Formats: sequence, C-alpha cells, structure tokens
Amino acid sequence: MSPGVADLWEVFRLDNKKVLIVDDQNGIRVLLMEVFSSEGYNTFQASNGKLALEIVRSESPDLVLLDMKIPGMDGLEILKHVKAINKDIKVIMMTAYGELDMIKEATDHGALMHFTKPFDIDEMRIAVNMQLRGKGSGNWFATGS
Ligand SMILES: [Mg+2]
Repeated sequence: MSPGVADLWEVFRLDNKKVLIVDDQNGIRVLLMEVFSSEGYNTFQASNGKLALEIVRSESPDLVLLDMKIPGMDGLEILKHVKAINKDIKVIMMTAYGELDMIKEATDHGALMHFTKPFDIDEMRIAVNMQLRGKGSGNWFATGS
C-alpha cells in the first residue's frame, strides 16, 4: 500500500522545525504562537531572557523571533547568548522605531533581519517560511538526513 498525503504530512510533522518566540508582551506571544503553530511549526515562547535561554538549551530551536526591548536581559544580550550556545540558530529581531543603533549591533552579532513593530504578520510569516523551508536553508522535501 502506497502512503497517502496524510501519511506524508505525518512524516513532515515528525521533522517539524522549532520556532521560539521571545517577547515580554503577552499579546504578541499569543499572536505569533497561533500563527506559527498553524503553519505547522513546533512553537515555544518565553517572556524573558532567562526562560528564553533555558528553551534554547533544552529545545535547540531552528529560529528565534526576538523582541529587542525586554525588561532585564534585553534582546541584544539574549541574541549574544543564543549565538554563543549555537551560532546556527537563526534569529529575527522585532524592534521599535528609532532603534537603528541596536539594529546595526544585532546584525553585527548575527541577526538575519528585523521587523519594526507594528509589523505585517503576513510578511513575517513569509520571511520565517523562507528561512526554514526556502532555498538555501536546507531542502524541506529532501529524503534522509
Ligand atoms: Mg518588549
């Protein structure tokens, strides 16, 4: 019996990419969790740097959506720690207007890109899909490992 489409989806789900959302605003976390869960990603969330780094260590996410302004350990600091733990983890920053210096520093420390709040959720969805399923970032449909 040949596998059906549902079975193939099941195979892909086993190989789910992990996305970690880090933001001190509950509303943003809830929104992004909903969007990226329905995209089929394994989603995690953290409201502060300490929790974020615990998840980075235990789950080794493929991509982190990281708020720049977080009380305590800020986004830049978290970014540096994430990259020190695993430089291959992709990081996309979420910033406010007027944070150009911080954006430049984040880029220097390996952040891929940034979205300025309030961002278009669809643009972010597409950017994350490009990073995790698009060309040059591993072949989604490749067999084996
Ligand atoms: Mg914030």
